[in-house]
Amino acid sequence: MTTKRPYVGKAKEMHPTDDPSILMMRFTDDISAFDGKQVDSLKGKGAINAAFNQVVFSMLENEGVKNCLIDQVSMSPTDYRVIALDMLPVECIVRNFSAGSFCKRYGVDKGMVFDTPTFELCVKSDELGDPFIAPNAAVALKMITNEQALWLEFECQKINKLLTKFLGDTGLTLVDFKLEFGTAVADGEWGNVKWKKGDLMLGDEFSPDSCRLWDETGVSLDKDRYRQSLGDVLDGYNEALELIR
Ligand code: UDP
Repeated sequence: MTTKRPYVGKAKEMHPTDDPSILMMRFTDDISAFDGKQVDSLKGKGAINAAFNQVVFSMLENEGVKNCLIDQVSMSPTDYRVIALDMLPVECIVRNFSAGSFCKRYGVDKGMVFDTPTFELCVKSDELGDPFIAPNAAVALKMITNEQALWLEFECQKINKLLTKFLGDTGLTLVDFKLEFGTAVADGEWGNVKWKKGDLMLGDEFSPDSCRLWDETGVSLDKDRYRQSLGDVLDGYNEALELIR
């Protein structure tokens, strides 16, 4: 570890390592909702999300979806080595069913099935409330290039198919989710994993914090338990983890 300071996010910390092309991602017990207006700590959440993310990102890597995850740091349940990325300033949201802000925005009920999954880009900004942005506006504002806009939608739809099948096989319904992408800050190598500066790939994480998952009876096993005070949040997260591993 170097003496450089970590970047502390809402549910994760990014720590520098001796290799500038690699960061250590620590999943914390912190949880927040409503653009950081509701904040708490749930003991054990970090370890659950780290394990969930590892199962999902490993599956995606095996299916050819390049992503930032390298490996676990010396058996720590919350710490993972990841490729250091410059993150794009946008969030990508895919929806298979109506829920959350989509229902509010269009005045529709929760649970409408989408034959064609939707893809939305949002500006990553708590201050602005992560507003929806048309891909060509994100290009005009130089947040992403035109090629990246096309690639992001294609990649997200591909990932959605893989995740829907993978989670569906365990009895989980993938309602919607958020992904973030970035470009490698430097050439790097760790074990069998190799990357080049500028490689665009899936970053951040995938866990019950960043998706909606319903069990076979329609019960939420995700952050809606926290947003809507639906009951023991971590029981739901744990149930989802047990199903996928
Ligand atoms: N999401 C997220 N981070 C955000 C915004 C959304 O992880 O900053 C996830 C959210 O958990 C859900 C999906 O993206 O699985 C769609 O969220 P939505 O737009 O419905 O907003 P929300 O209801 O979460 O405010």
